[in-house]
Amino acid sequence: MTSYKRTGQIKEITSLANPLIKNLKALALKKVRNREDLFLAEGLKLIIDALDLSWKIHTLVFAKLGLGNTLVEKTAARTVAAGGLVIKTSEKIMAAITRRDNPQTVIGVFGQRWHKLEKIALGKNSLFLGLDRIRDPGNLGTIIRTADATGTSGIILIGDTIMPYSLKTVRATMGSIFSVPLYRVSEGQFLDWRKKFPGLVVGTHLKSPINYRSVNYTKEPVLLLMGNEQQGLPESLACCCNKLVQIPQKGQADSLNLAVATGIMLYEIRYETLELDKQSP
Ligand code: SAM
Repeated sequence: MTSYKRTGQIKEITSLANPLIKNLKALALKKVRNREDLFLAEGLKLIIDALDLSWKIHTLVFAKLGLGNTLVEKTAARTVAAGGLVIKTSEKIMAAITRRDNPQTVIGVFGQRWHKLEKIALGKNSLFLGLDRIRDPGNLGTIIRTADATGTSGIILIGDTIMPYSLKTVRATMGSIFSVPLYRVSEGQFLDWRKKFPGLVVGTHLKSPINYRSVNYTKEPVLLLMGNEQQGLPESLACCCNKLVQIPQKGQADSLNLAVATGIMLYEIRYETLELDKQSP
């Protein structure tokens, strides 16, 4: 795997048995992704956005169909200039790497990026989102995308969580994986950091009597805590909140989907601080 991190050249590969292609296919596996600290992102626009945001690209793979497309060729040149490898290949091989029947014509391999809680600098409008032991890759991708859309300052993954760099989560973020700072900590590390958090810590809880719309989120930095899909927010995290709020429900549903509840909360918090209602659609 390390062999392709340092090249800066263009190769044409036609065989699925080629070791570079085998390495790329293996990035669909969690243990390989984590060992190599890399992940796959699909789609030209998304890759260009990532490069514009200074993400380091290790490999760019494109289907021969992309030849003659100026943007693909420019992106290939940027990859080579950054010391990455460019692979020109068939659609069949692209499909095998991304495990989908209709692959995008361009795939990028990027280094994973994690931020450190200790380095967070808070402003009055900072909004951090803590996710307790999130389990569902689609939920996580949708939440990262919504966090990006609401200008959320960062997402803290707490405890035994899934990782955001799987194909499924990255796809669901629609490119927002490159825009939202991500943090990963144990519950103990989170609780230590929370002690020094100077703003409002709001947890969401089905049993809270407080309506989520009755809280003023505008006065200080906000840390929003969302619970695990099955078990909700544990006592240990609920205890560290200044307020627990509930989104009212009618009908028979026990609860809302985690990504939907997170979207409602982030928009409520941001409606007031960023005046989203006054911006163009
Ligand atoms: N059985 C779980 C429970 O008892 O909390 C349901 C968890 S729910 C699917 C996942 C998370 O979404 C909750 O922990 C909470 O953060 C949020 N959530 C879902 N519906 C909510 C509601 N009506 N009010 C507040 N938070 C809600």
